Amino acid sequence: MALDIRTMMVMLSALSVLFSALLMLAGLHDNNTRGVQHWAAGSLCIGLGLGFSYSDMGLDRISMLLSGSTLMAVAIGLQFNGIQIFKTGRCNLYIPWLLAGIVFIQSIWFVVFYPDIHARVVANSLAFAIGNAACARALFIRIAQPLRTAYWFTGASFAVVATMFLARAVVIFLAPPDTYSLYAQTPINPATFFIGSMAQMCMAFGFVLMLNYRLATDLQKLASTDMLTGALNRRSLEQEAVRLSARCKRTGDTLALMMIDIDHFKSVNDRFGHPVGDEVLRRLAAVAQKTIRSDDYFARYGGEEFCILLPSTLEKDAWILADRLRQTYACMAMEFGGETLRSTISIGVSDSTHTGVEFDSLIAAADQAMYRAKQQGRNRVMLHSSLNRVATG
Ligand code: GH3
Ligand code: MG
Ligand code: MG
Repeated sequence: MALDIRTMMVMLSALSVLFSALLMLAGLHDNNTRGVQHWAAGSLCIGLGLGFSYSDMGLDRISMLLSGSTLMAVAIGLQFNGIQIFKTGRCNLYIPWLLAGIVFIQSIWFVVFYPDIHARVVANSLAFAIGNAACARALFIRIAQPLRTAYWFTGASFAVVATMFLARAVVIFLAPPDTYSLYAQTPINPATFFIGSMAQMCMAFGFVLMLNYRLATDLQKLASTDMLTGALNRRSLEQEAVRLSARCKRTGDTLALMMIDIDHFKSVNDRFGHPVGDEVLRRLAAVAQKTIRSDDYFARYGGEEFCILLPSTLEKDAWILADRLRQTYACMAMEFGGETLRSTISIGVSDSTHTGVEFDSLIAAADQAMYRAKQQGRNRVMLHSSLNRVATG
């Protein structure tokens, strides 16, 4: 079956413009669109570039060829920038112009000064192959779950296009002179446009998939963290606790819990104001995040109360960690408006060997211990098991 090149070009051009609109719409309701506009603009450039390359448009052929291939180069640069912005929030704006400049100069050279259609198509195909390979590389390296699947899908589409352009360069380079033209029914032309159309479609879906995964991840993070301190919120602490309790029941492992409360925090607010109070909460959270181990869970339980859930830990080991945190925080001198603020915390510790693995009993026990620490003068760590000893002793 012979596929008509001109029809395929028009189809791919129209598809690219449609994908551009799709991407623009996909990013419309996200204020922090992070690269989607670049992808949309890139797709539009591909559509226009193919349109210009299609010669029956009434314009003079050379300028159409030049603008067609240059627009394709701008498109690849924009897609690359879109990927960088999506990943890191930054991009190098000169990249699309650099790629376009290279393609424009080599097109001028092989059309005007040294007319050779083979050399021009080979050189441009190589430039497009390198550009697409750079996009694929950016999508394959330094990526983390849960977006990995979407990145790989899109990266694979770019890799296919890069391979296709490389194959096109090699085939045309090896072809006998004067056997190639853009509309010739040689196998490489329909193959290029067929694979190009499929890959273009996969890239657009891949970008939408990446955006969708990112939004879902952001939403998940928003729902599980405390906005002020960045710690887990109470809801996700409880979820983790239920999961860990079930595991402990199954495996017989232990679970410890710390309840942390800032001493005389009301007077910090009264003396320095609420914004300073908020900053104190953030600093305590930062110290605690540094102190805990990678598999511990640090959460804001309420106002100025924080919890740390420690898997596979006993009270006495939790006490060591708690006392280190208490000391580090007490030694911190915080400067606010020329005044030095020193603050302390009281911590209650419980573990599942004394209370059972249920979260409610662990919390109640740690809370009792924390209040005993307050009663005994604050700035101290109290174990729940020591309360029982006092009570029965
Ligand atoms: P104690 O040593 O007995 O714990 O005394 P305290 O003053 O810390 O205890 P209290 O529970 O009376 O005060 C807690 C204060 O924490 C009251 C509330 O205004 C303040 N607070 C709760 N949430 C926030 C917050 O998000 N930001 C600020 N700045 N203050 C908060
Ligand atoms: Mg409190
Ligand atoms: Mg307090």
